[in-house]
Amino acid sequence: MKEPVELFTDCYLPAKAFPTLRRVVYASLVSLCSLRKALRLNRPRIFFTNDLAGCACYCAGSMDWPVIVLNVNSFRAPELYLRQAVESSLVHEMLHAYLETCGVDCYDYEHPEDEVENLARRYCDGLLAGEEVAEALDKMAEKELAED
Ligand SMILES: [Zn+2]
Repeated sequence: MKEPVELFTDCYLPAKAFPTLRRVVYASLVSLCSLRKALRLNRPRIFFTNDLAGCACYCAGSMDWPVIVLNVNSFRAPELYLRQAVESSLVHEMLHAYLETCGVDCYDYEHPEDEVENLARRYCDGLLAGEEVAEALDKMAEKELAED
């Protein structure tokens, strides 16, 4: 089921991403393709805003075509670090999307933030392959669902 991005981003004012950010985001999505495939996710759709408390968020319920909101103001880092910052945010939000496909409810359930961030970091540091990330998330989901 393909939903329009607007359904998930109603509550955010759109913002224009500066060209470097736009370019880095799309380059990152290309280099994250193997992770995306390991997680069996469709290509995320990106929505830019200035209107977000954190730097990025995954829109709960959009797992079929994951919608990721990026806060333009959070990515005004020097270009050298921009790629790293964007990539780790995208990975983190993709892991939330994957947990949702495992049945962990994103609406009224707090995903285990620290564990998600830890996995995202290890993937970005090249310590884990996409398949290993998926396995770790499967275990995490199993545990979370057993606790319900
Ligand atoms: Zn998170």
